[in-house]
Amino acid sequence: MKCNKVHSKLIFFLEKELQVSEMEQVQKHLDECSDCARFAAEMKSTLRILENDKVTDENPFFYTRVKARLEKQHDEQLVARPVLLRILQPVAFSILLLLGIYGGFKLGETPRNTLVSSTLSEQEMVPFWNEMEAEPIESFLME
Ligand SMILES: [Zn+2]
Repeated sequence: MKCNKVHSKLIFFLEKELQVSEMEQVQKHLDECSDCARFAAEMKSTLRILENDKVTDENPFFYTRVKARLEKQHDEQLVARPVLLRILQPVAFSILLLLGIYGGFKLGETPRNTLVSSTLSEQEMVPFWNEMEAEPIESFLME
């Protein structure tokens, strides 16, 4: 095998992408030709630097960015439902309270009265609670 042919196959030789017979021929030439052996050594170290770059620089950044994005999406999916529930729950709660109060008024003097008087103040608080608490809880969960 001639030097220029070895040079053209060297990158494939180093990546072990040659046929076994060609690998052997290149290896044999490198054993005999110090010029090609030096060239091969340089190319090998260059490849190693490139591979190290991939591992130490590009990959972790890319990986963490993708991972963070995936986790964020995952979190958003997790949070989406509770937030919706948290918004809908007070509404449903208010409706139940109104029905309860309405029922309480209609029924007059019943054991329900104690429930109504204690929940009346809660019902007033619900819209404020919804506005003030929903956002901090949401952002807390997002972190
Ligand atoms: Zn050579």
